Amino acid sequence: MEKINILNLNLQELETELINIGEKKFRAKQIFQWLHVKRIFDFDKMTDISAQLRERLKEIFYINRLFVQKKLESYVDNTVKYLYGLHDGNFVETVLMEYSYGYSLCISTQVGCKMGCRFCASAIAGFVRNLEPAEMLMQIYETEKNSGIKISNLVLMGIGEPLDNFDNTVKFLNLFSDKDGNNFSLRHVSVSTCGIVPKIYELAELRLGLTLCISLHSADNLSRGEIMPVNHAYNIQKLLDSCRYYIDRTGRRITFEYAVIENVNSSDKDADKLSDLLRGMNCHVNIIPVNKVKERNYRTAANAVTEFAKRLRKRGINATVRRTLGNDIEAACGQLRRDAANENVLNGGGRI
Ligand code: SAH
Repeated sequence: MEKINILNLNLQELETELINIGEKKFRAKQIFQWLHVKRIFDFDKMTDISAQLRERLKEIFYINRLFVQKKLESYVDNTVKYLYGLHDGNFVETVLMEYSYGYSLCISTQVGCKMGCRFCASAIAGFVRNLEPAEMLMQIYETEKNSGIKISNLVLMGIGEPLDNFDNTVKFLNLFSDKDGNNFSLRHVSVSTCGIVPKIYELAELRLGLTLCISLHSADNLSRGEIMPVNHAYNIQKLLDSCRYYIDRTGRRITFEYAVIENVNSSDKDADKLSDLLRGMNCHVNIIPVNKVKERNYRTAANAVTEFAKRLRKRGINATVRRTLGNDIEAACGQLRRDAANENVLNGGGRI
């Protein structure tokens, strides 16, 4: 029988497994709390479980820890970026950021990404596989252990497209918010997507209470298509329809992300087009400068971000400029993993 990664199981599934081996149902909750509340990842340390059952658990289940391959700490703010090694030799990135209200953690949802956004470092290193719910959880658990910090916000904006790994992402969110486990409120979670329209409709039906962020980056199909191939499958009109549905169905405001890129989407006309597109919608626009990716020439001109935000506000759109953190450690996602991938190739190393 193949062993099961116990951190992929929700409480009901764990109960079923225990009943199947003739154990009492309540044992499942005890084990669930060892894992998710006490964060004990060694069955031998689960002291209120009999030695006999612990042996049995080790035969049925396994736990994969992540190891810190690299940890970069910013000099300019308290941002910490982790490159975590997974059990199969792959790497993912996780970024811990300090805000006035507490700490926010940005986690990855896939090893690499298929979406191919032109400005994104994650696209350059290519797609390998989806992350399992356990691997998303472990990014939080290992970071909290390593840093001694409890996070108050979670963002799914690291490597990967969460809605391209929909089932695992939803299972992870349900696990992390389980009242018998972490009981983390999904009101403090943001999920960012490049715009996989059918999955936005599906997510709306779940009414999870999280904040949906849409990487829009242009209000014009031609220029959006050039920088985001996903726009060929789901254009701006289809995307906005799904967003309106999401807002109606969940009562939640949507955040649109917009990286201002010189000669692509930064003109006054671009800002006006964006405000026309979003007028009347229950939304908020987050304006950011484009992060430098060494393989690409994209840049943001000085003051372009504040000017763009000002113009949107003048036209009645709720827009803020996102503070950039961890600039000195390339905290933008995808860059460390890409470098690790390159090093591996240079060393003739194994799989990335
Ligand atoms: N796949 C998801 C989440 C991961 S990317 C998505 O597309 O939303 C997280 C955010 O970072 C997205 O808004 C993405 O467009 C943005 N991003 C990626 N590369 C960037 C760069 N070089 N500069 C600025 N933002 C970038």
